[in-house]
Amino acid sequence: MWYVFRRGSEDIIYLDNSATTKPCEKAITLMNKALTENWGNPSSLHILGMYAEIALNNARKVIAKSISAKEQEIIFTSCGTESNNTAIFSALSRKGYGNRIITTAIEHPSVLEAVKRLENEGFEVIYLHPDKNGVISLNDLENSLNNKTVLVSIMMVNNEIGSVQPIAEAAKLIKKLSPNALFHCDAVQGYGKLPINVNQLGVDLLTASGHKIHAPKGIGFLYCKSSAHISPLLTGGGQEKGMRSGTESVPLITALQGAVEELPNLENQLKIQNELFTYAKELFKKSDLIKINSGNSSCPYVLNISLLGYRSETVLHFLEKRNIFISSGSACSKGKKSYVLKEIGLIDREIDSALRISFSRYNTKQDIDILFEALTDASKQLRKAN
Ligand code: PLP
Repeated sequence: MWYVFRRGSEDIIYLDNSATTKPCEKAITLMNKALTENWGNPSSLHILGMYAEIALNNARKVIAKSISAKEQEIIFTSCGTESNNTAIFSALSRKGYGNRIITTAIEHPSVLEAVKRLENEGFEVIYLHPDKNGVISLNDLENSLNNKTVLVSIMMVNNEIGSVQPIAEAAKLIKKLSPNALFHCDAVQGYGKLPINVNQLGVDLLTASGHKIHAPKGIGFLYCKSSAHISPLLTGGGQEKGMRSGTESVPLITALQGAVEELPNLENQLKIQNELFTYAKELFKKSDLIKINSGNSSCPYVLNISLLGYRSETVLHFLEKRNIFISSGSACSKGKKSYVLKEIGLIDREIDSALRISFSRYNTKQDIDILFEALTDASKQLRKAN
């Protein structure tokens, strides 16, 4: 794969931004600065520690502000998976209130696998099923909530189809019907794309990951509302106010700060992205072979389609030869049939030919035109699979 990068990124049409994004300039600059000039341990009492601590606090301030949270409500973690695991396993310390957990059937594996473990330990888990647009029903949620519910975990934007869940409305129901429950939202695919105000959303816990917003891999955070009591996954030196032990990675945390500072105005960018998304959908609709799997009101950064009759992997490699990079589903579901597409009612033939096109603010109409042309060529040049 290295040849691609040696040719220079101008040649690449990268439409796999839900898997990961290219680190932006400011993230790299701030990370370099921390690695070369400010490499102290923020817990050290001497001046080098103090400088690192200042950088850490500064980053925390920027990140807290990006979701209208308080600084002390941000816990830095290594990734979205760790934040999700921390949130889910916090149910263990709430056993005194009850043993019901509610989540959706289309969560990321870092939620579903954690929840499964708790199910094996005796928790009762209710999985809400989405409609054909990938959206859960608030009625179903309402009917599942009771005063024994200790945790509800609902993602903001689905990573395979881009469906957006009604988080604020769900929060209101949860507060009313399950006052002992913590409400966690996995916002890995929403943060940096949709404007987020944790107070307006009404969540107790919220997960975000750096590498989906042009920061490097290895950094994420968990928003934990001041009034929400959770238990740490890692114990040790007591960093992050005891909520996540382990020396804070100032280089990665300041890189995340850089990526957040470089985010455009999200409302404006959403308008631009909506236009690009509509353009893509209209173009793809011109082909009889393309079925659009993403629902009507999905987040405009994720578009799931099927090139009917052609296996996803074969198409993916065909496109790769032209330096066009998309995905056959979520990056961590390599080789497995998508449970998300099954949940929204797709048949095997449609699932086997599914392609995920995921955008960043750097994509253009020209990228979409080139992708469409390449898909048309793929349908002419590749052998049909079914
Ligand atoms: N949640 C969602 C919705 C995701 O899409 C991902 C990654 O793709 C994660 C969680 C895990 O994030 P990370 O890769 O930072 O562990």
